[in-house]
Amino acid sequence: MAAAISTVSETRNLQGLNLVAAHSHIRGLGVDDDSLRPRASSQGLVGQEKARKAAAVILQMVKEGKIAGRAVLIAGPPSTGKTAIAMGMAQSLGPDVPFTMMASSEIFSLEMSKTEALTQAFRKSIGIRIKEESEMIEGEVVEIQIDRSVTGANKQGKLTIRTTDMETIYDMGTKMIDSMSKERVMAGDVISIDKSSGKITKLGRSYTRSRDYDAMGADTKFVQCPDGELQKRKEVVHTVSLHEIDVINSRTQGFLALFSGDTGEIRSEVRDQINTKVGEWKEEGKAEIVPGVLFVDEVHMLDIECFSYINRALEDELAPIVIMASNRGNTRIRGTTYRSPHGLPLDFLDRVVIVSTHAYAKEEIHEILKIRAQEEEVDVTANALALLTKIGQETGLRYASNLITTSTLLCQKRKAKQVDVEDVERSFRLFYDPARSVKFVTEFEKRFIGNGGDVTFSITNGDAMEIS
Ligand code: ATP
Repeated sequence: MAAAISTVSETRNLQGLNLVAAHSHIRGLGVDDDSLRPRASSQGLVGQEKARKAAAVILQMVKEGKIAGRAVLIAGPPSTGKTAIAMGMAQSLGPDVPFTMMASSEIFSLEMSKTEALTQAFRKSIGIRIKEESEMIEGEVVEIQIDRSVTGANKQGKLTIRTTDMETIYDMGTKMIDSMSKERVMAGDVISIDKSSGKITKLGRSYTRSRDYDAMGADTKFVQCPDGELQKRKEVVHTVSLHEIDVINSRTQGFLALFSGDTGEIRSEVRDQINTKVGEWKEEGKAEIVPGVLFVDEVHMLDIECFSYINRALEDELAPIVIMASNRGNTRIRGTTYRSPHGLPLDFLDRVVIVSTHAYAKEEIHEILKIRAQEEEVDVTANALALLTKIGQETGLRYASNLITTSTLLCQKRKAKQVDVEDVERSFRLFYDPARSVKFVTEFEKRFIGNGGDVTFSITNGDAMEIS
C-alpha cells in the first residue's frame, strides 16, 4: 500500500520493485492504534519516540480530515530519521490519501518556474475522491444467441440477462463475445457486465433456476448464487489528485503527459476552472476533497520567494499538510543575507509546528543496523554487528549502514556465509567516512584539481596512492 517520491503513484509503484533502498525497511510509524504510543522498535522504526508520537498525532488528524493547510518542521542532526519518520507516515496513510515527497533542490528546474513546481507539488498532494454510478450490471443469463453466420471481427449476437427488476437484451459487440468465450458463460450463470469495456465476469450460477436449465441440458453442475441480491447499479469511487485533473484538462499537454511526467507549466485559468468545478462537485455530493501530505526534504534549500509562496498557498482552501525537514541550525535564508534558525524566515517559522529528532543511543544504532542487515538479507555475526555499532556511534548511522553492503561483498569474495569482523574492518579501510575524507583532503589539499595541482588518487587499504 502506501506512499510517494515525487508523486504518490510513483512511490507506490516503486515499492513493487522490491529494491532495497535507504528506507525500504520502514513499514509504518510503529505506534499503538488507540493510544498512538510509539513502541520501542516496531514496523522498522526504532527510538525517536517523541517525534514518532508527534507524527502519529498529525497523521491521525489527516486521516480524520480535520486539518489541512498546516506546516510541520522536523528538525534534527543528519541521519536522525527525519526522512524515515516521513516515510513511516506515508506508509500509514490510507491508500487513497496522497503523499508527495520532494527534495527542495527539485524546484530549481530549467523547465518551469519555482512557483509552478511548488504549485504542482501542492496539487499532487490533494486528492479528489469522485463517486460515480458504475456502468456495471449484474444479472442472470437468460439466453445467448450468437450469430454464427458472421465470422471474424464482425461477430454479433444478443445476450438477454435478467436483473432484479427487468429483463435486458444486449446487442453484443465483438469484445463481449470474446470475453464470453473466455469465461464460458451459459444460461443460468450469474454475471456482471461492465458496459463501458464490455468485460463480463462470471459470479456464480443461479441455484433456483438451474434446475430448469438442467432440464434443457444446459449444464449439470450448479453453483450457489453468490451472497447478496442481484444489483442493477453499483457505486464506484476513484481518487485522483488535483494535479492529475489539471493535466488531463490542460489542452496544451493532454493526459499522456501524466505518463511522461513532461507536464510543463499549466495555465492558471485552467486551474481556476478546475477549482470551481471541484467546488461544484463537492456541493452536489459527487466529490470529496482529501487533503494529503507534501513532504519537503532539505527545506533550507528553498529561497525567500518559495517561502513566501508556501505561506500564501497554505491559506488556500485546497491545501495539503506540508511537512518539512532540515538538518541545519542557524543558517542563511537563500535569496537574502539574513540568517535564521533552519534557514526559514521568521514569519514562516512562526506558523510552523516544530518536531525535533535527536542523536541515537548505542542500543538504538545497534537495533537499526540489525534491521538493515535483515532487510538486506545479510547474516552478520554478533561481533561484526558490535563493531558496526561502534562505527555508527563514531561516524554516523548512514556510513555504518552502507558498510553492511560493502562488507557483504567482501564476505562473498572470501566465500564465507556470515559477515564477520574482518569484512567490516576491510570495508572500513577501503571506504572513507566523512571525517577521514576531510582529513585526507586537508592533508593533500594542494594536489587536488582547483587547488594548484591536478593529480588523481586511488585509495588502497586506507592509504592514498599517487597514480599520476
Ligand atoms: P539527513 O538530515 O541527512 O537528510 P535524516 O534525518 O533524514 O538525515 P534518514 O535519511 O531518515 O535521516 O536516516 C538515515 C538512515 O537511517 C536511513 O536508512 C533511515 O531509514 C535509517 N534510520 C534513521 N532513523 C531510523 C529509525 N529511528 N529507525 C529505523 N531506521 C532509521
